[in-house]
Amino acid sequence: MTSKEKVLVGVARSLVLGEPRLMRSKHVAFVLLRGKVIAIGRNKHTCDPHRRLSIHAEIDAIRKTNLKDAYKFSLLVVRIKKSGELAMSKPCTSCQKFLSQVGVTRIRYSMEGDIIEGIL
Ligand SMILES: [Zn+2]
Repeated sequence: MTSKEKVLVGVARSLVLGEPRLMRSKHVAFVLLRGKVIAIGRNKHTCDPHRRLSIHAEIDAIRKTNLKDAYKFSLLVVRIKKSGELAMSKPCTSCQKFLSQVGVTRIRYSMEGDIIEGIL
């Protein structure tokens, strides 16, 4: 884990801890462009009462960006346990598919106690 990632894990922790646990797990995704965070995403349920879809943090974050720059993005996805520790946050198959479709190639995600390089 880089020192910058340590800082971002701290940001993710402060975002999720102390909130009511509406979702089973708390994922936070950061989109970085030239080393700067340009968007933060969270996993959440949609408001549509007829369909219990959930939005994954990666998608939530990417939706807040200009997709024409997607090939320059680095994505960091972390999952914070109730205890504040890191847990596995490898993007699911459908997020992986979405990310590669929009052109994101660089991704790192959390696992127990660390952050590792992912492959899309
Ligand atoms: Zn997903």
